[in-house]
Amino acid sequence: MTLDQFVAAKVGDVIAKERFCLLVAEGIRLTGISFAEVAHEFSTAPGTIGRWTSGASAPANAGRARVVRFLQRRAAASSGLDSQVECQRCPRAEYVSFAHCLRNGWPVCHGETMLLVRHPSPVEIQSATAAAIKAQLPKASD
Ligand SMILES: [Zn+2]
Repeated sequence: MTLDQFVAAKVGDVIAKERFCLLVAEGIRLTGISFAEVAHEFSTAPGTIGRWTSGASAPANAGRARVVRFLQRRAAASSGLDSQVECQRCPRAEYVSFAHCLRNGWPVCHGETMLLVRHPSPVEIQSATAAAIKAQLPKASD
């Protein structure tokens, strides 16, 4: 699985144990995040994460999607996709680059601009916005 495929993998609210273990193993391999960091995020022991990646165990179904989405956010961030948008009429969600969308427009689904549900910090937004405005200003010679 590539980083892009992992980020785009559809994650429903219920994930079968085998698929969960595969996705966690792939997410950790692709992001290089440590067992300790994942364990800390979910208040569990590093050994537990090891058992998830080996397929020996998995958390209760209700907690699986949270773990996979956490790894997907990490993977998206490491590939420059720092924001997430969601359609308000269907389950479609996408990871996007904030700076890229400022310059080129935001994704549209069902005829409406998708809602920004995750974005960079205000400081990062400010500098990306300034850069986008500067890119659109006519050159002094125009
Ligand atoms: Zn939609």
